Amino acid sequence: MSEVQDKPQVRPIPAPAVTIESKPFWDAASEGRFLIKRCNGCGEAHWYPRALCPYCFSDDTVWEDSPGEGVIYSYSVMHRSPTGPYAIGYVTLNEGPAVLTNFVGCDLSTLSIGQKVKVQFQATEGGPPVPVFAPV
Ligand SMILES: [Zn+2]
Repeated sequence: MSEVQDKPQVRPIPAPAVTIESKPFWDAASEGRFLIKRCNGCGEAHWYPRALCPYCFSDDTVWEDSPGEGVIYSYSVMHRSPTGPYAIGYVTLNEGPAVLTNFVGCDLSTLSIGQKVKVQFQATEGGPPVPVFAPV
């Protein structure tokens, strides 16, 4: 017996590797919250989250809730894939850092550089959800 799927196919994403350094991020993601890191030494926000500031190497970095809003910096649509077309690229967050991500929730042919997007979370195969971005 088979069912006809009328929803667009969602590309499966493997579970991310959760480390001691990244666990607070994934715990927040499981609650639907998007966290970035900010440095108390130089004031810069950074992505991906890490213990040492990539700008000044201070270890005085703190987690910060982000609305997860930004614009598409670049993107690429993969048309040939066993799981169907998908798009990846960089989002420049309003806080400044760039995030490599998947784009979802739209006709991929309508993506454009500079387009406003917002984070959402997509389930993974046996791990915490990962941030993906959709046009607003
Ligand atoms: Zn810094």
